[in-house]
Amino acid sequence: MKEVVDLLLDWYAKNKRDLPWRRDQNPYHVWVSEIMLQQTRVEAVKDYYARFLKRLPSVGDLAEVSEGELLKLWQGLGYYNRARNLKKAAQMVMQECGGNFPEDYELLLKLPGVGEYTAGAIASIAFQKRVPAVDGNVYRIYTRLFADGSDITAGKVKKRIRDAVGEAVPQEHPGEFNQALMDLGASVCLPNGMPLCDRCPVAECCHARRDGTMLSFPVKPAKKARKIEDRTVFLLEYQGKYLIRQRPEKGLLAGLWEFPSREGKLPLENVKPVLREWGADLGQVELLGSGKHIFSHVEWHMLGYLVHLQELKGDISQKFVWADVEEIQNKYSIPSAFSMYLEQIMRE
Ligand code: SF4
Repeated sequence: MKEVVDLLLDWYAKNKRDLPWRRDQNPYHVWVSEIMLQQTRVEAVKDYYARFLKRLPSVGDLAEVSEGELLKLWQGLGYYNRARNLKKAAQMVMQECGGNFPEDYELLLKLPGVGEYTAGAIASIAFQKRVPAVDGNVYRIYTRLFADGSDITAGKVKKRIRDAVGEAVPQEHPGEFNQALMDLGASVCLPNGMPLCDRCPVAECCHARRDGTMLSFPVKPAKKARKIEDRTVFLLEYQGKYLIRQRPEKGLLAGLWEFPSREGKLPLENVKPVLREWGADLGQVELLGSGKHIFSHVEWHMLGYLVHLQELKGDISQKFVWADVEEIQNKYSIPSAFSMYLEQIMRE
């Protein structure tokens, strides 16, 4: 691995991506960007990052923000526990470290939501510590470079690769080295489809390229098929407001707001009994069509109805919240799983 260090650093100096969070080495900025970038594309993160830092410019601001406002800032990025952990970690930094980010890799690992990759990225980029930041990009590059057919989902294989990359991190410019690997994985040694080996600074050292087996690496076991869940989503409107409810504190989309739904795709004739259960009477009903949302382990296949209620009975208003479109947009965090239906009421 050491033979690729200088090649990578030279290439990075000329080709590094111009990203907003690279304009300084502020640990708060590095941390927020790395957490946002988990499971999310760079282009999608840029606007969120700018908005987040405008509202919460320091770790102290993040420690004090309300959960509702935090989730609203995060709305659409998904994996909302990342945001909750950011706030918990910010509170730890304020209370236990006097507002100063820990520089040490082991201390960084103690912050909620900070794993080995993120701790390595913060320690090396913000504090020039000689530690690796190994994520899926680096496993892919490494296994291609060495034509290593081990299963990269196995803990001991991950550790072996992390150790090997850790040995190679240079004393000078450790952050640049880690970022060079990130950029190589993002723009040259691509995850889907053929890597762009003719643009690769380490092509001469690459065993997979020599053998023409680039697409055989990395090796991972086949993923289990996602579970399919059918749901019927109800957009219940009464006097210009829509019914929303908060999801449970634990599980998928915990604590976020949603339009009420039921399991299964209900035909129109089955809509009335459900509304009665909720204390609402069927008014004018519009079929909103089908929507699909893919989570990591489950897919929701949805059918939506927009129901204009004529009157309210029972305790429906105690179980749910009525909100107009402006409040839904600005106050409540509705996950992007419902964006298709949200857009329809915004056009109403
Ligand atoms: Fe990846 Fe090709 Fe470079 Fe090897 S030569 S590291 S396969 S881009």
